[in-house]
Amino acid sequence: MKIFYTCISLLFAVLTAMGQPALIKTREYPVGYFRNPLAIAPQASGTFGELRSTHFHAGDDYRTQQRVGLPIFAVADGYVARVRVQIGGGGNSVYINHPNGFTSVYLHMHEFSPQLAALVKAKQYELERFDVDIPLDSAAVLLKKGDRIGLAGNSGSSQGPHLHFELRDTETEAPLNPQLFGLRFPDNVPPTIRGITLYDLEDEPFGEYTPRRHLSLTDKQTLRVNGRFGIGINTTDRHDGTTFNNGVYSIELFLDNKPISTVLFEELSFATSRAIHSYIDYPYYILKRVRIQKGFKDPNNPINIFHFLEGDGSITLTDNLEHTLMYRVRDAQGNTSSHTLKVRNDPSYTPDRQRTTGTAMFRYDRENRFTADHIDLIMPANALYDHLHFKYHQGARPKDGYSMVQHVHNRLVPLFESYELKIRPDSTLTDELKPKAIIVDERRNSHGGNFDDGWVRTKTRSFGSFYITVDTIPPTIQPQNISAGKDMGAITRVNFKISDNLSGIQSFRGFIDDQWVLMEYDSKSRSLWHVFEDSLPRGKHRFRLEVVDWKDNEQVYEVDFLK
Ligand SMILES: [Zn+2]
Repeated sequence: MKIFYTCISLLFAVLTAMGQPALIKTREYPVGYFRNPLAIAPQASGTFGELRSTHFHAGDDYRTQQRVGLPIFAVADGYVARVRVQIGGGGNSVYINHPNGFTSVYLHMHEFSPQLAALVKAKQYELERFDVDIPLDSAAVLLKKGDRIGLAGNSGSSQGPHLHFELRDTETEAPLNPQLFGLRFPDNVPPTIRGITLYDLEDEPFGEYTPRRHLSLTDKQTLRVNGRFGIGINTTDRHDGTTFNNGVYSIELFLDNKPISTVLFEELSFATSRAIHSYIDYPYYILKRVRIQKGFKDPNNPINIFHFLEGDGSITLTDNLEHTLMYRVRDAQGNTSSHTLKVRNDPSYTPDRQRTTGTAMFRYDRENRFTADHIDLIMPANALYDHLHFKYHQGARPKDGYSMVQHVHNRLVPLFESYELKIRPDSTLTDELKPKAIIVDERRNSHGGNFDDGWVRTKTRSFGSFYITVDTIPPTIQPQNISAGKDMGAITRVNFKISDNLSGIQSFRGFIDDQWVLMEYDSKSRSLWHVFEDSLPRGKHRFRLEVVDWKDNEQVYEVDFLK
């Protein structure tokens, strides 16, 4: 009887394996060790590995019933290793180290627990600054699984109330997919395959001139190719009962059932997350806002999500027979979608390519320098993901410009590292204006910069059209609830809106009766505020606020008030 039972279960296991193979994983996970960070049923508005504008999403975003203030709980025993207040980014965040070698991270918090809040405030007053990053030793704040660490919110660069939650390898700080630890979201919906694109790569670097064929998913015709080509996919995943387009777990590409590339969203690296620009079809994303994930890798893409890659993932057929390409996409719970297409090499097929040689050839593996009358550009090795037919030309001086426009290739080609850009100002940049000079792009976004030895120089990680302008205008300060002589008796906090027209806010400092006081700042809403301390003596006081932009233009607001 026992033997019979074993046979049945073995058979069942094999069938399961054939129908739904197990997720590919490179390590073991302590499933069940961590609890959910919130006390409500988990729903995701974003998942691990999801494609964001400058990085892969390093955690799961838990929905919080569209509001701030839900309590957050330590997911296991441990100690607080770091507590941080950031302008933008993660906002208010807590890092907990657990004895099993993992760190849990909680971002965009509304409020810290009283113990952590006191620690943070003491550090803010000690350093006289709002944004602080406090490492703590293992004895400072011990936690039990389920202890409250604060409230969920919308601080930092969050676009609405939610909890961003991460699990990291404590030693390497590499973020891991929390769903592999059993922290799952209800999901019986297979990934959506929205589109497949074929790239005629031939012997050229990948870029804006690469011919793209966006394939119909219903067309069963055999595709003709000639020479080296690559494949990309537009795919997302949805969970039960939600409309959010989340990230998938794995993307596998097969040629005649042999693997070509396997992408896994199991583990990420903060050091290479920016290379998402090389992983996706970046020119197409910039033009169409659609993200196609390439099954081939640019030669200088440092990314670590390719679990398997045959060569660089591009394909060259050596015969003229019909071949089968198959994509298999899975979410973190194993729901699977696939798509098959047929390709055949045809020597008479000519890809629709615009040939270009550019102004200069930039190689990704060495320093590139380009010099002309009004520009000097120095790009270190490994700033580019691939070789580049670099293009340059000069345009007319804009109305607010102090130089000609320098068209430095174009914004469709991404960079991994920054390069040094120097632009020569014309004679209208007087000695008085030189300290106020910055480099902006055609949309008047500041790329920083300083006048130095006849040039305005900066470091930037973008190509585009650049020119010199000046920022002579100080930031603005708009008081929201304070005015001269006002009795602030019943008011708990004084509110301001601050903004800057060009170079951006560099610093803000608040004082009551010449004593530094904590100003809290939310850059996305331009809100700056001070919560009055209980220790403030009753009577007449003087409030002073100083706001400085990156070109050292200063705005000061001063007012007497009663409290
Ligand atoms: Zn997030």
